Amino acid sequence: MRKKIIAGNWKMNKTFDEGMGLVSEISNMLKDEYHGNAEVIIIPPFVHINAISRMVVSDRNLSVGAQNCSNHVSGAFTGEVSAAMLKSCGATYVIIGHSERRQYFGELNDWLAKKVDAVLAEGLIPIYCCGETLEERESNKHFDVLKSQISEALFHLTSEQMSKVVVAYEPVWAIGTGKTASTAQAQEVHAFIRTLLKDKFGAEVSDNITIQYGGSVKADNAKELFSAPDIDGALVGGAALQSRSFVDIVKEMA
Ligand code: PEP
Repeated sequence: MRKKIIAGNWKMNKTFDEGMGLVSEISNMLKDEYHGNAEVIIIPPFVHINAISRMVVSDRNLSVGAQNCSNHVSGAFTGEVSAAMLKSCGATYVIIGHSERRQYFGELNDWLAKKVDAVLAEGLIPIYCCGETLEERESNKHFDVLKSQISEALFHLTSEQMSKVVVAYEPVWAIGTGKTASTAQAQEVHAFIRTLLKDKFGAEVSDNITIQYGGSVKADNAKELFSAPDIDGALVGGAALQSRSFVDIVKEMA
């Protein structure tokens, strides 16, 4: 059985007190209302990770992640945060290659491959994001783009390493736009990604890899998305900033 994962990416939102309040609400609501088996990950800004990890340490199925990390181990890289630092603060997951990092910070596939290595070397789990722009989809280049994003950042891994990676398909045109991919569109791409992984790493690895969908996921579209055979959860942005909307998405995952 593949692990089902719902992750909430706060991006650059929430002061410390706001963040602690939000986690406390999510934690209480999940205890009262959620009896399923999905793993729920809170992905706040770096500066909140340690405090949130301590808050949720005894919560069933609640983990903490980071939105990015350095590809370097340590040293003179002002402003960077290493995978070892994240681990020491209680993070277990790290988003790598979010489209905002690609778009605003120029992160390219070969660079992201090194970040994936750095995360795995610390025993953390990369959530590797891929997804096409609207222009790429409209010109029917989306499968080629996805193939490059996956092969250039992940195909150097061993099968054992790959089996630890989570993939998130996030069409750029659906992020923060309120425009969700249809379940058929998302399922088509998830199946394509799983086939790519199968051809490279074998069926045992590809069958067990969690592939999340991200892009304007809300409680009212989550159920249908989660019913697709290759959609194993969601990476949620805007709707993760409020406890009710986030927990309602989690509750759609049995
Ligand atoms: C995201 O940032 O990964 C995301 C999916 O955002 P939103 O849910 O707001 O589209």
